[in-house]
Amino acid sequence: MGKQSSRSAERKKRKEFNYPNFFGIILAHIFALCGIWYLFIYGISLTNWILFGIFSLLTGFGITIGYHRMLTHRGFQCSQPLRWALAIMGGMAGEGYEYEWVANHRVHHFFSDQEQDPHSPRAYPGIKGFLWAHIGWLFFKYERPDLYKTFQDLDRDPVTQWQRKFYLLIVISGFIIPFLISGLSGILISGFLRLVFVWHSTWSVNSICHLFGSRAKDAEGNLYTRDDSRNNILIALFALGEGYHSNHHFRPTWAYHGWEWHNLDMSKWMIQSFEWLGLIWNVKKPVIDKGLLIKEIPKIA
Ligand SMILES: [Zn+2]
Ligand SMILES: [Zn+2]
Repeated sequence: MGKQSSRSAERKKRKEFNYPNFFGIILAHIFALCGIWYLFIYGISLTNWILFGIFSLLTGFGITIGYHRMLTHRGFQCSQPLRWALAIMGGMAGEGYEYEWVANHRVHHFFSDQEQDPHSPRAYPGIKGFLWAHIGWLFFKYERPDLYKTFQDLDRDPVTQWQRKFYLLIVISGFIIPFLISGLSGILISGFLRLVFVWHSTWSVNSICHLFGSRAKDAEGNLYTRDDSRNNILIALFALGEGYHSNHHFRPTWAYHGWEWHNLDMSKWMIQSFEWLGLIWNVKKPVIDKGLLIKEIPKIA
């Protein structure tokens, strides 16, 4: 029974190949490799380094602070100018428009590491599971379970609707701006190489942070979560704090993923700065529950 249902889920996943996603991702990687080639042949100018840094941070925070902590989990409320800025920055990351990203990620939390999870490494054994969670699931058309196809808050959000309409233009502007400042090398380094770098940082949260690292637990060693989510400091560094993923699965609405002052949660630092500046408010901050014991849920496969 279990085997049969997992096989039918596998068939479902394989059913419709997502050609635009597949060719888009492959092409972006080819151009990113051209960027690395350019870097080795001609070196990289200070302008390009700075542009690469700024665009990586802007689009990365667009995802972590905007798409994820604000929109998906409603971890804080936001002033309109910053809300618009985050919609543009997140869109430039080329990870899809807000609506789809947020809706799919909510499903990930509802069904973490269970059969309906869009990108659990548990879907396949070994390296195949890692690849599925990291990139493979994007190559197939994903249909959310019936109850989670639409979300009222997103339907009603005018910025989300606007962002969906102008999404392609927003993504393209993430290439045009570096081109205007730095020419062709700007497109390769701060356009494609930056795009692919931020993609893999986000994707590593789905793959590595559900496989490798430590699990959030209390002082007695009782686990905080039922799923496979992990805290991984290396991914926290690249993914601007999102690597504290086991913490995050425990209380998704908390806007801080690194609970300790010494945690490398750069998105938290930005949120703290925005709050101090009065640009955001009602930030949901960690309150650690004591003595929580959750039993393991059975594995899918
Ligand atoms: Zn997760
Ligand atoms: Zn989340």
